[in-house]
Amino acid sequence: MPSPPEDCLFCGIVRDGTYVAQTKGFVAIADINPQAPVHLLVIPERHVDTFRDVGAFPAREAKRMLEFVADTASGAGLTDYRVQVNVGPTAGQTVFHLHWHVLGEAARAHGAEALTTAVSEL
Ligand code: 5GP
Ligand code: ZN
Repeated sequence: MPSPPEDCLFCGIVRDGTYVAQTKGFVAIADINPQAPVHLLVIPERHVDTFRDVGAFPAREAKRMLEFVADTASGAGLTDYRVQVNVGPTAGQTVFHLHWHVLGEAARAHGAEALTTAVSEL
């Protein structure tokens, strides 16, 4: 597998960032430019450019990634939400390190403080 680009933004965030949730091999962060009241990004530590290459994940890791997407949403207090992956520039992908958007209108718990508490308990 080719090595990740040295200047990959999300490889840097995985290394040095502040997470709202974390599990082995995956982190979740708050989107810097939220498009919904709750907008989180689930990022695998493994650098894969786009969802087109999702087969690069071993099956168990791919399953854990999907479970972590669901756990991140429920940990943020969301019951109803959208999961989005933009694949390629014309579909809106701007960061070429696979990531999952989790977008929700309202956390079950009220306010950002409650959200932080909820996700830190993941
Ligand atoms: P894409 O457009 O590739 O599907 O999603 C990239 C997302 O990353 C965008 O929603 C954008 O707001 C977010 N983003 C870009 N740079 C940063 C950053 O430095 N920190 C965080 N937390 N999010 C970022
Ligand atoms: Zn990367």
